[in-house]
Amino acid sequence: MSDQVTMTEMNYGNDRPKAKNPVKVEDLSIRDGHQSLFATRGRTEDMIPVAEMLDEVGFWAIETWGGATFDTMHRFLNEDPWERLRTLKRYMKKTPFSMLLRAQNLVGYRNYADDLAKVFVERAAENGMDVFRTFDALNDYRNFETVVKAIKACGKHFQGCICYTLTAPRLGGEVYNLDYYVNKGKDLESMGADSICVKDMAGLIAPYDAYAVIKALKENVKVPINLHSHFTSGMSPMSHLKAIEAGVDIVDTCMSPYAYRTSHAALEPLVMGLLGTNRDTGFDIKLLAKINETLEKEVMPKYRHLLDDTKLSIIDINVLLHQTPGGMLSNLVNQLREMDALDKIDEVYKELPRVRKELGQIPLVTPTSQIVGIQTVNNVLFDDEKERYKMITAQVKDLCYGLYGKTAVPIDTEVQKKALKGYARGEDPISCRPAEVLEPELEKAQEEIKGLAADIDDEVLYAIYPVTGKKFLKWKYGKEAVPDEVKPISLEDAKAKLELVAKAWAGNVVEKNKEAPDKGENLRTFNVFMGEDYFEVGVEEVGGTPMVNYIQQIQAQIPAGMPAAPVAPVAAPAAAPAAAKPAAPAAAPKPAAVDGTPLTAPMPGMIVKYEKNVGDSVSEGETVVVLEAMKMENALPAPVSGEIKAINFGNGDSVAKNDVLCVIG
Ligand code: MN
Repeated sequence: MSDQVTMTEMNYGNDRPKAKNPVKVEDLSIRDGHQSLFATRGRTEDMIPVAEMLDEVGFWAIETWGGATFDTMHRFLNEDPWERLRTLKRYMKKTPFSMLLRAQNLVGYRNYADDLAKVFVERAAENGMDVFRTFDALNDYRNFETVVKAIKACGKHFQGCICYTLTAPRLGGEVYNLDYYVNKGKDLESMGADSICVKDMAGLIAPYDAYAVIKALKENVKVPINLHSHFTSGMSPMSHLKAIEAGVDIVDTCMSPYAYRTSHAALEPLVMGLLGTNRDTGFDIKLLAKINETLEKEVMPKYRHLLDDTKLSIIDINVLLHQTPGGMLSNLVNQLREMDALDKIDEVYKELPRVRKELGQIPLVTPTSQIVGIQTVNNVLFDDEKERYKMITAQVKDLCYGLYGKTAVPIDTEVQKKALKGYARGEDPISCRPAEVLEPELEKAQEEIKGLAADIDDEVLYAIYPVTGKKFLKWKYGKEAVPDEVKPISLEDAKAKLELVAKAWAGNVVEKNKEAPDKGENLRTFNVFMGEDYFEVGVEEVGGTPMVNYIQQIQAQIPAGMPAAPVAPVAAPAAAPAAAKPAAPAAAPKPAAVDGTPLTAPMPGMIVKYEKNVGDSVSEGETVVVLEAMKMENALPAPVSGEIKAINFGNGDSVAKNDVLCVIG
């Protein structure tokens, strides 16, 4: 690097001398940034205030779409995902748009058929997409074939990803060593990649490993190299710098209000750090400051409540210790807590690398992080000394069949055999490209949504998300009222709420200058503990005795792979006054008044389907009911042979742990 230039006022602007080899930057604020920090809840109207300014910065590309945006927008924000692209394009005319494409999974959670994959890419290109950053959770590039053909046919930029993962604390060891990454890079180049992205979704890449990987890729492939490294572990700013020294072409950052925690390193320190060097970005720092000011004042107040600020630390130590990405860890903890087994977390940490290895040493990224994580929990909770993999999820069975693609190393043959016993598609795994076994699906979807969908974009939305997509189209065309919870909130409302929270913290919820009413006979006192502080608080409902009618556990319904928004705190049961009648619990289904052996729910969840009816005979070990828990399906076997005497629930019902699902006599 060259010596620093003299610092003058002028050097902060973009009129300073151009560097020999400026680092190119992709901005992720309005996709991965708000996806990582604010559960993907960013609205188009909140991107517009900074859109024109972002377009002036000089980014290599701006990520505007893909990942979880397509799902979240139509499901939670009542926004047409296609419309966002067209709208943003009107404000950002110079900078190419980039999207994250989950290869054959498109912007969903399963492999879609080739016909739908092709049309999806064509529509994305037509609506304004320029750079297709494409990844597969198994790094199986056969899952790229269909979409890459379409990207190329549209004349767009194909950026191929290598998902970065490890088998040891650092780069090296059995599978994920330097050769692995170099070979993947060569594979991508020979597929026609216009650039290659090292996609470090959990923030695992250490600075000197980033140096080694980027240097080796630069020596072995010709196309530009891009580093995408999440901040999660805290290493990414160091890794960026070492990657830049190794000659990386493009790095990914966020504007500082969207940076750090599980998101990405901020742009501003990078620009300042490289100022005057031969890799100076050339960006105007004053412009960046202006963008941040607009974001802070006009946008961030609306999202602040979504930020998980329960911890002061912005670094997730578990990623460093166990390589468990943040989203995956919170899922595991939730699952264990629901089953009263949080004390088993250390066993889960121990079992996790073993399960991952047996399932083919796969990278942990949506959806494989969920698949490996939940199977691990099942093993810890249900296995005994005699038998492992007692309860195998449907997704693990699909993985063992080959439906997700080829794993890094072969799946353990014992586990595979057990998983595929009685598997509906067949007991012999496939070795072909997974989409080869999928029937075309677009036409069928078009037929189903006839009369509601107005164009091909509506049809594709429905084909990918049939349930929530149909609901959205009903809102879009005024066939159903738009519920309040998906409507935007105004900046004024957001600020008023934040003020109220600040007042509550300061203990000023009741205006001090108001005259206090007389204490009534129904006044009840409570002890309130806040950290080391202790208050006695008198509570009296205005106009009578407070009554707590029911206390309900709130459970967030969040699709797999999405970071969970913080769940609202639940009213403490202790607040129920003694005078009030105890809350009547929701009536549990009566245990069937028949004799026999009950099949109980081993975990809370939702009934997907009963495989048997009353009167059917079953043999021990045969699947009776499929229970969904944490988005994974579990086939529950009959504990004994006999006849189904009673079935206590229906499809779609939620059940608690230990509920009697059926009785076998
Ligand atoms: Mn990412």
